[in-house]
Amino acid sequence: MILTVLGSGTSVPQRERSAPGYLVRSENRILLLDLGPGTIWNLARLSGVNPGMVQGVLLSHLHIDHCIDLAPLLFSMRAPEIEREAPLRVMGPPGLNRYYSSLRDLYGHWVEPAGYELQICEWDGETVEWEGFRISAAPTVHSVPNISFRVQDVDSRSSCIYTGDGEPTEDLIRMAGPGVNVLLAECSLGPGKIEENHMNPAQAADLATECRAEKLVLSHLNPGCYPDDVYRDAAEHFDGEIVIATDGLTISL
Ligand SMILES: [Zn+2]
Ligand SMILES: [Zn+2]
Repeated sequence: MILTVLGSGTSVPQRERSAPGYLVRSENRILLLDLGPGTIWNLARLSGVNPGMVQGVLLSHLHIDHCIDLAPLLFSMRAPEIEREAPLRVMGPPGLNRYYSSLRDLYGHWVEPAGYELQICEWDGETVEWEGFRISAAPTVHSVPNISFRVQDVDSRSSCIYTGDGEPTEDLIRMAGPGVNVLLAECSLGPGKIEENHMNPAQAADLATECRAEKLVLSHLNPGCYPDDVYRDAAEHFDGEIVIATDGLTISL
């Protein structure tokens, strides 16, 4: 399984960091985690994948910087250049159905599927299997409902957790089970900063320890979060490997 960071930043535009978006790939099976603005262009630019190749999308929550590219993704598949017959599944938090129907109210048939089936699924607490990926989810504490996803490749058994936004919950730690290869964690607060609904590097590193992660990837970095400081703070709380995400970073797991 391969993880590619398509956007390691936040809602604040930065020269080096795009809004949140990630690609998980095992051979030709492809999932996207979050769809911040620009994600589908970064998908083409950084990984050569076009929207017709994506089997599933997992949306952690409905903040604009994590989900707004759903409309361009669906719109792009109306273009004759993009071939798609396989179903597209989109899973997300409660409210996803309403979000999609609002997009339909606004954009009509331009965001409706043509020649393929679109499955919009609000998370119901169940573990599901899609295209050889086993997907579980658990809530975090955020200002809107947010779910963290655990994605496991059924064949290789490699696994990762993507936190989306928020403070950890016991359910999230339990979801890690005996451990995960990669914890991809939001780290939008700088070292020493404590605020509700987000994590700083030390908190993300504590979570990695509790999830028995082999590797911690720190992402969703705001301007002013300097990688060296972020790394140093996290390293005091986690013994495994720590990677500071950059756009285009690719990790095999
Ligand atoms: Zn966010
Ligand atoms: Zn958020």
